[in-house]
Amino acid sequence: MRLDKMLANSGYGSRKDVKALLKQGAVSVDGVPVKDPSLHVDPESGSVTVLGETVDYKEFIYVMMNKPPGVISATEDTRDRTVVDLLPFELRRFKPFPVGRLDKDTEGLLLLTNDGKLSHELLSPKKHVGKTYYAVIEGEVTEEDGEAFRQGVTLDDGYVTKPAELRILHSALESEIELTITEGKFHQVKRMFEARGKRVTYLKRLTMGPLQLDPELGAGVWRELTEEELLELK
Ligand code: URA
Repeated sequence: MRLDKMLANSGYGSRKDVKALLKQGAVSVDGVPVKDPSLHVDPESGSVTVLGETVDYKEFIYVMMNKPPGVISATEDTRDRTVVDLLPFELRRFKPFPVGRLDKDTEGLLLLTNDGKLSHELLSPKKHVGKTYYAVIEGEVTEEDGEAFRQGVTLDDGYVTKPAELRILHSALESEIELTITEGKFHQVKRMFEARGKRVTYLKRLTMGPLQLDPELGAGVWRELTEEELLELK
């Protein structure tokens, strides 16, 4: 990769800024100052330094966020704050996007990355990636609801859902449940309960495939995935 591209991708500004850095003699490759922006380097070799600091190059970022309510799962929005707005510039420069969507009022696990291939695989209907949600439901949730979800329920647009697994945590006039689905239709969990005549009043995603929401992350807080999490995901 060209040296100027590598430095620009690593947060050292635009190609023009990088050129200025090179001109000042701030950049070295294998300890030797370099001024040629077109020099080809191995970005991951650790051979490039700026003012003596090794450039930590990476192409992809993987961020786990506990999405807070009131924020949109998108990269930009004309009115509301987006999940990308919650990230610092050092990460936003990688142009991350959310893998799938959570409704504005839904909370919980959201993966943000710039790895289109991984995102595609996690969202592909063929891969049946399981997603578990915790929800509070207005109304009594029963074993019949569980059986209906196992069989598939018909949503308001006629779509019949794939088998889903319901776990009733607490059943009363207001119930608490966990539901695992393997697809991601628009408002799916809310519409599945609507199909049973019940209303979701609180929804939080807990898992996506092998990835589990880190309980240490408060609402709106994020961290990069650990190597183990990434290995499990890929
Ligand atoms: N199902 C919903 O209804 N909303 C979400 O945000 C996610 C799943």
